Amino acid sequence: MMRFRENVDLRMANTLRLPMKARFWAEVQSETELAALMNSVTLKRLPSLVLGGGSNVILSQDFSGVVIHPAMRGLHILEQSRDQVVLEAAAGESWHSVVEYTLRQGWSGLENLALIPGSVGAAPVQNIGAYGVELEDVMHSLVAVERSTGKTRVFMPEECGFAYRESIFKSAECDRWIITAVRFTLHRQGPLHLDYGDIRSELQAMRVVRPTSLAVARAVMAIRRRKLPDPALLPNAGSFFKNPVISQDQYRMLQQRFPDLIAYPFGHEIKLAAGWLIDQCGFRGRRQGAVACHERQALVLLNHGNGTAEELLAFANDIVQSVRQHFGVTLEMEPRIY
Ligand code: FAD
Ligand code: NAP
Repeated sequence: MMRFRENVDLRMANTLRLPMKARFWAEVQSETELAALMNSVTLKRLPSLVLGGGSNVILSQDFSGVVIHPAMRGLHILEQSRDQVVLEAAAGESWHSVVEYTLRQGWSGLENLALIPGSVGAAPVQNIGAYGVELEDVMHSLVAVERSTGKTRVFMPEECGFAYRESIFKSAECDRWIITAVRFTLHRQGPLHLDYGDIRSELQAMRVVRPTSLAVARAVMAIRRRKLPDPALLPNAGSFFKNPVISQDQYRMLQQRFPDLIAYPFGHEIKLAAGWLIDQCGFRGRRQGAVACHERQALVLLNHGNGTAEELLAFANDIVQSVRQHFGVTLEMEPRIY
C-alpha cells in the first residue's frame, strides 16, 4: 500500500543532511501504484520530484509539491543460460544489496560498483561508474513509467543516451520518466576489470592469487572505506564535481605549465582528475563554517553539522572560481540541485 505523508522533513532522506521540508511524501510500492499516483488529481495539480536514497542531490529549498519515493522491491531472474543471467531488480532496492546478492550467487558484472550508495532506480540516471565500469556496461534494459501519462516503457541501453555520469534521465528527458526496474546481464564466469586505480595492488595486499568477482568487490570496498567518508558519519554526496574533459590541445598547454597534472585518455579527449585540481588550489581539508572539503579526497564536500545548501553552494562556487583561475578549466557539479 502506498504511504502518503504530509509536511515531511527530508533532512534524514538526503546524505548531505541538508534541511528541506516537503508538503507531501508518497512512497510507492509497485508500478501500478505509481501509475495511479501519476494519474491522480493531486499529482496533476502539484509539482513533483523523485527521491531515491538522496545521495546525489542538493536539497536547497522547501518544496511545495509531492516527493515521490520509489519503494518497489524484488529481484527476479528473467533469463539464464550456461554462461549468463539476466537479473531484474526493482527500483527501490538498495544498490549495494543487489551487488551483494549477485556476489553471493558467484556472478560477475557488478563487483567494481560495490558500495555505491543509493537505489537501483537512480543508477541509470547518471550511469553510475567506478573503477573503470559503468552501469551501461552491465545493463540489459530498464523499465520506466512516464510521469505525464502513467504509461510503462522498456528502454534498451542505446536508448538511454548514456555517457560519462550522464543519461537522458539526467538531462535531455529529465523529469519525464520514473525508473521502476533495472535489468542486468551478468556472467557466471565473466571477465574481471582489474586495471583501474589500486585494485591490483589491493588484491596483492589481500594475497589473492586468482581473483573472483567477490575478491574484486572486497578490494574495491576496502579502498573505498579507506578513502571515502561514510555519509552516515560525515554527511556528503560523494564526488561533488565531475572530472572535466578537455581537448588534446588544451591538455598539452596545461601539461607544460603543470607537469604533474593527473590526466587520462578519454576517447579523443583527455579527462583530468578534478580532485587533483581542487587540491592544487589549496582546498583539500579546508573548512568554511559548517562545510568542508574532505582531507582524503578533495572531490568530496562535507556538511559538518548544520550546514545549509546556501553555504555549501557558496563554498563550491569558490572552488569552481579558483580552479578556473588557476587552470582555465570549469568544473561542473555532479549532484542535482532542487
Ligand atoms: P537520489 O540522490 O535520490 O537521486 C539522484 C537523481 O536521480 C535525482 O535527480 C532523482 O530525481 C533521480 N532519481 C532517483 N531515483 C529515480 C528513479 N527511480 N527514476 C528516475 N529518476 C530517479 N556515484 C557514482 O556514479 N559512482 C560512485 O562511485 C559513487 N560513489 C558515491 C559515494 C558516496 C559516499 C556518495 C554519498 C555518493 C556516491 N555516488 C557515486 C553518487 C550516488 O550514490 C549515485 O549517483 C546514486 O546512484 C544515487 O542514488 P540515490 O538513490 O541516492 O539517488
Ligand atoms: P582515484 O582512484 O583516486 O582516481 C582519481 C581519478 O582518476 C578518478 O576520478 C578516476 O576517474 C581517475 N582514474 C583513476 N585511474 C584511472 C584509470 N586507470 N583510467 C582512467 N581514469 C582513472 O579515485 P577515487 O576518488 O578513489 O574514486 C574511485 C572510483 O570511484 C572512481 O572511479 C570514482 O569515479 C568513483 N567514485 C565516484 C563517486 C561519485 O560520487 N561519483 C564518489 C566516489 C568514488 P573516474 O572518476 O572517471 O573513474
